[in-house]
Amino acid sequence: MRKMVEKVDMEKLPKFLPLCHKEAENLDIIFTCSGAASVGKIGHEVGVLLTKAGEAARLCCTTAVAAGSEMHLDIGRRARRVIVIDGCPMKCATKVIQKAGIKIDYSFTITDFGIAKQPTLDISEEDVLKVALAIAEKVGIKLNVKS
Ligand code: SF4
Repeated sequence: MRKMVEKVDMEKLPKFLPLCHKEAENLDIIFTCSGAASVGKIGHEVGVLLTKAGEAARLCCTTAVAAGSEMHLDIGRRARRVIVIDGCPMKCATKVIQKAGIKIDYSFTITDFGIAKQPTLDISEEDVLKVALAIAEKVGIKLNVKS
């Protein structure tokens, strides 16, 4: 009996990211607060868009840095550039990265873009895109989106 060969739809396969612990020197490492409020979620989604731009920018695990993970501390120290995105003026991610002794090249706060912090995780794509485009321009990354 002939064996059935399953067709693989390459479009549906996950796109793997560069391994940050292997390639930190070649990457812009992005730390977001990923806070449980509108602006925290917007910041995370902005980090996703910058990562998907495919120009060697990469979200990394802020919580792992806060937890003292040596591997993640090392990634931050070796990164080509460090970009931090916080939701609100509490600037939790910036404080985590500073306390870890990691040099920050850029620090952004979502509320500085005229977006109010709300107790919701329902966010608008327009807000995400607006901030992502502004940050991308500031740091010199070309986003992979239609504006
Ligand atoms: S910076 Fe603001 S939104 Fe982000 S984790 Fe801290 S309090 Fe929450």
